[in-house]
Amino acid sequence: MEVPVYGVVREKEWLTPSIVRLRLSGDGLEGFTMVAATDAYVNVAIPPDGAPYAAPFDVQEVREAHPKPLWPARRRYTVRRWDDETRELLIDVVVHGDEGVAGPWAAGAAPGDVLVFEGPGGGYRPDRAADWHLLVGDESALPAIAASLEAVPEGAHTVARLVCDGPEHEIALDCPGDLDLEWLHRSGRAADATLLLDAVRRLDWPQGSVLAFVHGEATEIREIRRHLLADRGLDRSSMSCSPYWRREMTDEQWRAVKAAFVAEMESDVSSPDG
Ligand SMILES: Cc1cc2nc3c(=O)[nH]c(=O)nc-3n(C[C@H](O)[C@H](O)[C@H](O)COP(=O)(O)OP(=O)(O)OC[C@H]3O[C@@H](n4cnc5c(N)ncnc54)[C@H](O)[C@@H]3O)c2cc1C
Repeated sequence: MEVPVYGVVREKEWLTPSIVRLRLSGDGLEGFTMVAATDAYVNVAIPPDGAPYAAPFDVQEVREAHPKPLWPARRRYTVRRWDDETRELLIDVVVHGDEGVAGPWAAGAAPGDVLVFEGPGGGYRPDRAADWHLLVGDESALPAIAASLEAVPEGAHTVARLVCDGPEHEIALDCPGDLDLEWLHRSGRAADATLLLDAVRRLDWPQGSVLAFVHGEATEIREIRRHLLADRGLDRSSMSCSPYWRREMTDEQWRAVKAAFVAEMESDVSSPDG
């Protein structure tokens, strides 16, 4: 059996009415090796209610020993912070009503609960060579955006456009850069889906080279990406653009169609760099 990586919940804190922060530590994190990315993520494994096995477990062994309905659900969560000295891991989980697996699990988590995962992976980090930084996203991208804002070079011009449900859903953000931050608030209407796109369209575009990080709901991200490529002239190498989740689809449904969606998204705007 492979040694599973897992964290024991030490503390749970509601950052906003819909984001719960879990502080994890323990022997299961001994083998955890952080990557140098501010969008680092882990693949968590959450067993269904009544599963005949207990955490910590080996995901592969569980899959070999039990029928599919008993397999743990897989979800991705950003490493909001990893402390190499205390070996503590923070993850911030969006609780979007009673729906889903991970949201309700995090909402109900208590000290002593165990979270099994694999990882981390990840690839983006604010690049010192960029003249300015653009970060756009919703609550699911907030952990990566918050970690990225903390990592921009001192004084670097940084533009962040973030969407949430209202002022009580905003969180404090630290940034050593020259930060232009705007929170956008959903109103419960169809126009919510273009709040981020419209905010990016309205930007008075700064001079110089930009590195963009745009993550969140799939259809919203796709439109923003199209705008950045087609109207703002960005090339693909200067953006990290990924659909984290898809409205009206569970993560299982989304993963089944994600590769095709991303392939279509990639072909949205033809460009010499492919
Ligand atoms: C690399 C990566 C990093 C991620 N990091 C984080 C993170 O740090 N924190 C975080 O909260 N999420 C993060 N996500 C997104 C998260 O994995 C998905 O939102 C996931 O679907 C949530 O699982 P669930 O079990 O709660 O809901 P699911 O069972 O997947 O979905 C149930 C229903 O809820 C809807 N739904 C799912 N997510 C949201 C949402 N954010 N807001 C509103 N409705 C939603 C679905 O469309 C579906 O209708 C990340 C995704 C990726 C790919």
